[in-house]
This record gives sequence, structure tokens and C-alpha cells, in this order.
Amino acid sequence: MNKTSIIAAAVLAMAASCTNGLKPQPEAPAPQLTEVEKAGIAGCDSIVRFERGGMLAELSLPLAYADSNVVFRKVNDDLYIGSGHGMASETLYLIEGADSALLIDTGTSIPELKQVADSLTDKPYKVILTHVHPDHAGSIDAFDEVWINEADTTNLRIMCPDRKCKISYIKEGQIFNLGGRSLEAVFTPGHTPGSTTFMDKSHGYGFSGDSFGNGNLLLTGNFSTLKASCQKALDYMVANNIRFLFNGHYFGSNPETPQRLENLIRVSEAVLSGKTLGTQVQDGMIGLNKVVTGDGFRICYSDKALN
Ligand SMILES: [Zn+2]
Repeated sequence: MNKTSIIAAAVLAMAASCTNGLKPQPEAPAPQLTEVEKAGIAGCDSIVRFERGGMLAELSLPLAYADSNVVFRKVNDDLYIGSGHGMASETLYLIEGADSALLIDTGTSIPELKQVADSLTDKPYKVILTHVHPDHAGSIDAFDEVWINEADTTNLRIMCPDRKCKISYIKEGQIFNLGGRSLEAVFTPGHTPGSTTFMDKSHGYGFSGDSFGNGNLLLTGNFSTLKASCQKALDYMVANNIRFLFNGHYFGSNPETPQRLENLIRVSEAVLSGKTLGTQVQDGMIGLNKVVTGDGFRICYSDKALN
């Protein structure tokens, strides 16, 4: 294994161990969801049950595509949710507007992902990443062009050293107009320097990747950055009636909510002030050897995060 492979493997192992270590808990109070959103959440729940127990007969949403690398389910005419099998149900989303579509994230190893996406939509689409980690950027070379936040360029060099696709940079506030709906890029660093959340005001939800941890945040940045990102996303959600965020390891019961962001802010403040001390862990990967827990979530970090 060369150095980059070792780093990529370490990140995967770290993410897997952390994700498996804590079962994401639903938040209370639950957000008020429309029928479509409830269907989306039920669909994700079904995916997880399918992957964990093979309970295919219980699935309530139509299967749009399945192979040994990924399962896509159709929530409605403009939203498909994919679940990669590389690690911990890394989630992909295909979103359609009247004129064009977006594929958010590319999973770990889905060599035929372009053919899969082409089979799900006949509209032109862009591929955009919530961040550059191997379980979200692993299949970028299935496409000619992929959009990332430039701040994750270092990760791209380390984790995708042989990538061939063209990289374009997402700007803060960039609007991806799909016709009748649009997604706005809101930079939310902390998990990685280039972590980005895509907000859809017209539908009242967004897509945050691992920015807020899916119940289990791996904080490679510091708490000040995390706190600022949470406040920024929270303010946006409140101002624009965004009720929840589909995340990067979506289990159906772990959407990111305004309540979750408030809790992350509170824990960040407590750690920064010294009021809360993290617990040392033995198996912390790539230096994330401390853990602090909150209301249904935990944050893995290192002392560097206190700067
Ligand atoms: Zn990640």
C-alpha cells in the first residue's frame, strides 16, 4: 500500500469505526414534515433495513436501481436517494428540476455510476460534492467533470491522487438553477475545510454531507469553525424555512435539524470554554483521539480543534 492508499484506508476505517460506534438517535421534537419528506425518510429507513437485514419485501418506495455497489430508491419524480455499499451507507442524491438535475456525491466505489445516473434521469446534470472524502468522492472518475469547494483541494490530492476528471470550483452562495427549483451552496467547514451544504428553499430541505456529522461528527477542523458553520446554517434554515438536511450517511432517522445545530453550537462553546472536557479514546484514527457527546450525537476531535 502506498502512502496515499494508507491515508485513504485510514480515513475509511476511522469513519466506519466512528459511524458504527454510535447509533444515530432521532431528535425531539421531530421536525414537521410534508408527506413527500416523510416518504423520503421512510425510503432511507427502508434502504438501511435492506442493507442490514435484507428485508426487501418491506420496502415501501419503488426501487429505481440496484447492484452490488449502490441502491437507488425513487422518493418522487424529483428526488432519488442512493445508498452506497462501500461503507456505512454513504448516501448519494439525484435531484431533478424542470430543465436539469444534480447528482450530490459519488459514493466509495461505483464504477458504473454515470450509467446509473443516466438511467435515472434524461436531463443534463452536474455532479457536485458535499466534501472530498473517499466515501463521497470515490467514484468521481465516472464523470468528465465534478464540482467541489476549492478548500478541499488538499484532500483531493491526497485521497484521489490519480483522478482524471475535470475539477470545477463551487463558489460560496452559488446557485444551481435546475428549472423550477434551485440549490444554493453554503460553505460549512469543520468536518473538512471544504465541506458544503446545498440548500433548497423551494422544497424546505438541504443536503449537508458530513458537515454536521450524521449523529457522529469527525471534526478535522476546530470547534470555532464548527460553531460558525452551525450558526451560519442554522440562521439560513430559520430565515428560509429549511426544516431539515439530508446528510451523508442517512439512516432515515438522523436528519440534521435546527435543534441538532443548536446542540452542536452549545457543545462547541462548552468545549472551547473548558467547561466540558472530552474523553480520551484509545482507537482514535488519524489523531482524532478525543470524544465529546451531546444530545444523541458525538464529536470526535483532537486537541488541535481547541485552537
Ligand atoms: Zn466525510
